Amino acid sequence: MHGHYQLIGGGCSCGVNHASGVYKGALSIQAGGEAQQPATFPGSETIQSLVFVEKGKLEWRERPRPQIVGPEQAVVRPIASSTCDLDHLILAGRTPFSGPFAICHECVAEVMEIGEDVKTVAVGDIVTVPYHMNCGTCDRCIRGLTASCRRYPQHPHYGLPLTGDWGGLMDDLVHVPFADGMLLKLPDGVDPIAAASVSDNTSLGWETTAQHLAECPGGRVLVLGGTNSIGLYVVDFAQALGAGEVFYCDSSDRRLAIAEKLGVKTVRGMPDKTLGTFDITIDASVDPRGLRKAIKMLEPEGFCESVGIYFQDVPFPMLAMYWQGVRFRIGRGNPRLAAPYVLEAIAQKKVQTELVHSGVYAFADAVDAYVATEKPVFYREPLGKAA
Ligand SMILES: [Zn+2]
Ligand SMILES: [Zn+2]
Repeated sequence: MHGHYQLIGGGCSCGVNHASGVYKGALSIQAGGEAQQPATFPGSETIQSLVFVEKGKLEWRERPRPQIVGPEQAVVRPIASSTCDLDHLILAGRTPFSGPFAICHECVAEVMEIGEDVKTVAVGDIVTVPYHMNCGTCDRCIRGLTASCRRYPQHPHYGLPLTGDWGGLMDDLVHVPFADGMLLKLPDGVDPIAAASVSDNTSLGWETTAQHLAECPGGRVLVLGGTNSIGLYVVDFAQALGAGEVFYCDSSDRRLAIAEKLGVKTVRGMPDKTLGTFDITIDASVDPRGLRKAIKMLEPEGFCESVGIYFQDVPFPMLAMYWQGVRFRIGRGNPRLAAPYVLEAIAQKKVQTELVHSGVYAFADAVDAYVATEKPVFYREPLGKAA
């Protein structure tokens, strides 16, 4: 489905370093890399990391300081971090993930150190960091499947206990194995707070709508909300990308009010047939009934996307889908693919990501605010370019 957005071509504006990059081993020790020295925490061998301990409980713990051990790597310092909707399910004990592990996988960061071969970012740059590891040069990265980078078949992830311990994006410092492949500098004028979720949730808004609206300009869009932010980002991007009527369905007063501010029609609870049929439906409800509605309210051969995660199998109305014709996608987002388009939309004020946030907090307040609010952003000032 990503054919329209291939990253092929050395002159591409996406920022992925297509032209160079013989793989030198993300995790192997590279001697002689002349890393630029960090501007902060000189001499400290440990950093502070925000750790999910158990249901409802976070705490700051020490972890080893990330080091550059290869010429394509970077170390970054998160300055504007936010919560993925998944984090709130983790905190509520509604996922298979058990603590302790470093949490958080959405941030804008300041580049603190780079390896000698890094070309697209410099120390002091303010960058978006994808939740996933990716090299930027393999065939899958070049196709835009950045979350499925061939270098990382086991899908390592910041802020989740999957493969390896990469830390979380609230940590003091974070290791980036492929700086050119992963990081993208924010355009001038983009507020780091507005871009905090480009790492994941905001980018899903673009990724679930852009290609379908390109194929179906002015299409009617139905969004079934339910998680803290994703459905609202979808609404925002659907409008920005030229959708016709957009309906947002949810049972949350807070999210319905935001959808109204975004200028779309809202429905409390589940939609019914009186709304008609839709060219594009996005299920962000994490509720099998919402998914079923999203499928059954489609136009013939319409597009249905499911975002959010179902941790159990969910029955599908296969016979109805057969008669109707359904193009269905589910899967992890590819924020490094989406980032250039999403940041451009933010820079041009075509989307209003700040409306989705539930508040801006200091990093020091994270233990409480991360749990207590729906879509917090944690901010601290960048330290400025190293001398
Ligand atoms: Zn996520
Ligand atoms: Zn790759």
